[in-house]
Amino acid sequence: MKDEHVVCDFSGPRPPVLLAPENQLPMQCLHCGDRYVLALPCSITMAAVVSKQYVREHRRCKPRPVSPPTNPTG
Ligand SMILES: [Zn+2]
Repeated sequence: MKDEHVVCDFSGPRPPVLLAPENQLPMQCLHCGDRYVLALPCSITMAAVVSKQYVREHRRCKPRPVSPPTNPTG
């Protein structure tokens, strides 16, 4: 998978899914921080379809604006 800001990330936190780590294909959008874990084993076609769809969903995703810390008195 090689598309823009959507990456395959095995190092980050994962949703509490009942799968062994080796049975997970975690994907992450670096823009909105969304994570998706594809359960393995699955067919290459399935993985391709899901990852492609995931990339498509996040294609227009904007990076989260880095806002300054909110002022509690404001
Ligand atoms: Zn996104």
